[in-house]
Amino acid sequence: MMNVPLLVGSMLERAEKFFPNKKIISRTQSGIQRFTYRETAARTRRLAGALASLGVKKGERVGTFAWNHHRHLELYFAAPGMGAVLHTINIRLSPEHISYIINHAEDKVLFIDEDLLPLVERVKDQLPSVEAYVIMTDKQELPETTLHPVFSYEALLKQSNPATEFIRELDENDPAGMCYTSATTGNPKGVVYSHRAIVLHSYAMGLADTMALSEYDTCLPVVPMFHANAWGLPFAAAWFGTNQVLPGPQFTPKLLAELIEEEKITIAAGVPTIWLGLLNELEQGSYDTSSLRSIVCGGSAAPRSMIKAFETKYKIPFLHAFGMTETTPLATVSRLKSYQTSLGVEEMLDIRSKQGLLVPGLEMKVVADSGEVEWNGKDMGELLIRGPWIADEYYRDERSEEAFRDGWLYTGDVATVDDEGVIKLVDRTKDLIKSGGEWISSVDLENAIMAHEAVFEASVIAVPHEEWQERPIACVVLKDAYTGKTCKQELLDFISPQFAKWWLPDDIVFMDEIPKTSVGKFLKRALREKLKNHLTQ
Ligand code: ADP
Repeated sequence: MMNVPLLVGSMLERAEKFFPNKKIISRTQSGIQRFTYRETAARTRRLAGALASLGVKKGERVGTFAWNHHRHLELYFAAPGMGAVLHTINIRLSPEHISYIINHAEDKVLFIDEDLLPLVERVKDQLPSVEAYVIMTDKQELPETTLHPVFSYEALLKQSNPATEFIRELDENDPAGMCYTSATTGNPKGVVYSHRAIVLHSYAMGLADTMALSEYDTCLPVVPMFHANAWGLPFAAAWFGTNQVLPGPQFTPKLLAELIEEEKITIAAGVPTIWLGLLNELEQGSYDTSSLRSIVCGGSAAPRSMIKAFETKYKIPFLHAFGMTETTPLATVSRLKSYQTSLGVEEMLDIRSKQGLLVPGLEMKVVADSGEVEWNGKDMGELLIRGPWIADEYYRDERSEEAFRDGWLYTGDVATVDDEGVIKLVDRTKDLIKSGGEWISSVDLENAIMAHEAVFEASVIAVPHEEWQERPIACVVLKDAYTGKTCKQELLDFISPQFAKWWLPDDIVFMDEIPKTSVGKFLKRALREKLKNHLTQ
């Protein structure tokens, strides 16, 4: 067979040739802007030329510090298209971590949204590798800034040579992108994506039994473009000619609901806290969400009650998926098998709220101290994955040795597998509650509590205990209408039929808000710190 390299630049060229009139709908500071793939490809080529004129060379890193919008999408293709590496920076990291990753990646140029400038200005004196800052704004004039030298994105595009082409002489194993995981302890760890990994991962997104992403869709990546490449959606969607709606800065659940209605979104992707917010919004307002064929939810376990509410109350089909920055990220998808579709509603929900089946192309095993665990749906072990879009190291990081061993990625997630290969994540290793030598799944408790009608969000953590080593404590945010009206005992009585007595939380702490990580997950570390003396004082 022909050994033709799989390259990211060719993905956008396909959209340009075959779907020139399909749309990129981008929300920016000044409102909604619309582009065709033809226009996007032309702008992206000019941008590739502009990168070259800024002195960016093959293999060098181009950092982005931006929300989800059309300019960010253009960078997704321009940087790899001219042989450079797209480094999407998480805008919500601490200043220390922001300067750490820019330095560690040795970004040569930084592309920054105007409203995010202060975050970069704060660390500007600690960025020796950065030779130019490019500001992304809709305005004609560049804003006041202490960064130097600065360029205007649109001015660079105007000056650039329109005849620029994407480079063909690249190896498919060359780096195309990089992303750092948000660190729970220590500095963030970098993952480098090859062209080949991104293209193969995009194929996986189009499979009928995974996300079935296609030209028929209009997709809304709510997941940030700095969180594992918005889960690969912008790449795959361009390749397939799918309309993309990019929600821009500081969006709210209301705005998402409006975008879904107005732009007739068919598939949207984000973490559970986003969908809990949307659910709350749908309960308050009236929106037409009938265009949605799928809400894709990953990043943390999707609460069963949330899936049920979307599907039964709003007839919005839900798709639970699992992945990591290290897995590009799609690794498993939870769908019913053909012979399970006539099961009872609750039984089907039980299956679909698990993490599901490994995507074709990947391999897995689940190992405990005693070796590989039996696929019986009960025995727990750490999930190991390998495959062509799974990282094999962290970028220049000695912590690689721990996570990548014998050709496998050690995910740090504890799972069970049933006899037909369906994975259920029990917990992250560090979130499992070790009580008297036994393990309690914080995820199972959270799921049960969130099924109560009064509960908006719940997060269960391990708290030190003199006798039992650790005990579970539930942190709960009540819905506005129930605040002050629902008590601890009511919630405990509600979940107790589902669990052995020793699994039940020792306490339920009501809060106004659960702290979130930079990518919108419950920040258990902060809760553990806050409540560390809760049971010992
Ligand atoms: P971060 O490490 O910054 O949170 P990642 O998105 O890479 O960013 O995190 C990957 C982790 O998220 C996985 O190892 C797993 O613990 C968790 N995760 C992702 N998807 C799911 C899911 N569907 N259910 C449960 N946990 C999930």
